[in-house]
Amino acid sequence: MQALELYRSVPRYVAARVVGSRLPGLLAGPVAPLRLVTNDEPRPLGPGWTRVRPRLAGICGSDLATIAGRSSFYFSPLVSLPFVPGHEVVGEVIDDVDDLPPGTRVVLDPILACAARGLDPCSACVTGRHDRCDHITVGHVSPGLQTGYCADTGGGWSRMFVAHRSQLHPIPDELPDERAVLVEPLACAVHAAERAQVDDTADVLLVGAGTVGLFTLLALRAFTPAGRITVVAKHRRQAELARRFGATEVVSPGEVVGAVRRATRALRLDPERGGGFLLGGVDVAIDCVGSRTSLDTALRTVRSGGRVVLAGLPTEGADLTPAWFRELEIVGAYASTANPVGGLHASTFDAAVGLATDAALGDAVGATYRLPAWREAIDHALSAGSLGTIKVAFDLRDHRGEEDA
Ligand SMILES: [Zn+2]
Ligand SMILES: [Zn+2]
Repeated sequence: MQALELYRSVPRYVAARVVGSRLPGLLAGPVAPLRLVTNDEPRPLGPGWTRVRPRLAGICGSDLATIAGRSSFYFSPLVSLPFVPGHEVVGEVIDDVDDLPPGTRVVLDPILACAARGLDPCSACVTGRHDRCDHITVGHVSPGLQTGYCADTGGGWSRMFVAHRSQLHPIPDELPDERAVLVEPLACAVHAAERAQVDDTADVLLVGAGTVGLFTLLALRAFTPAGRITVVAKHRRQAELARRFGATEVVSPGEVVGAVRRATRALRLDPERGGGFLLGGVDVAIDCVGSRTSLDTALRTVRSGGRVVLAGLPTEGADLTPAWFRELEIVGAYASTANPVGGLHASTFDAAVGLATDAALGDAVGATYRLPAWREAIDHALSAGSLGTIKVAFDLRDHRGEEDA
């Protein structure tokens, strides 16, 4: 069975870490710690598990950070190598599993929590917060915070992986694959919007207009009473999409401090070194990038006592002085929960299926690639922002002839 595999190769991994920060174009080349392999088909890991045939599998920013060696070594005990990446998946169930007959089209909640690991629920899982599960390295499944980072389960960038019933959400027939593959990132965005705890008419700043930023914008408009939402966009096409998705104002990274100052009538101060900051500012700033610059921007434009949400995987440290001096709340937003959203009586995944069905997403999947063309796919995903592509995905449908390629 064909799969893309991320394998341990210390020299290459280190090379990717060194090179990745400067020359992203090389990542898809010889230094990438990724390779196309032919593996044995995975077997269900126990009762409640089924094989799944992926149809489309997205490329996430966290996948790119992992391939580039930009994610923190903090993650190293939370994954098991080698693994097949791919946690944004729409696919078909192969085996009869509980209430799901073979052929059921599903989307994957990738978190490998207590239920999937055959364990009694931990204190987080018992409340539906499987995103906060403490048991993601134990039980009968190898360590892995999610499918796509675990050696036993396989992942979406392949012809087949295995999943536990608790991870699978059947989807309506009328939801096309190209929308369904967005459900997992939309669920993360719904969760980030929840974690922002936006009060009535709150002023919100979204730093970044890639997939995370744009989807969080959609979720804020759909599920919160946010007032003014300013979006920081690097690229023209991202700015257009941000306007379409409900931004009040879209600004470039160079304009953001001035724009927030005007909108919130704050006072701007400029230190001897580093960017300007505000006394006053937005109520909530959401970092949807995870770079040092994006997090600094969020920390420097939020009012005293305000909230900074980490919606993008942070890959670099920022200057935390404003968090101390302005007494900011810094909250993480990882994955999604099984709890009801904003009085909707729907889980984040159900809310995300609703968004995927109803939102004016247009051609959000801007390009699809087959597995052998993975270098082009990764390259495209790395420059998706400037090319105006929201999501790049692998297409695993109907080309079985490649199986032995
Ligand atoms: Zn992701
Ligand atoms: Zn748990």
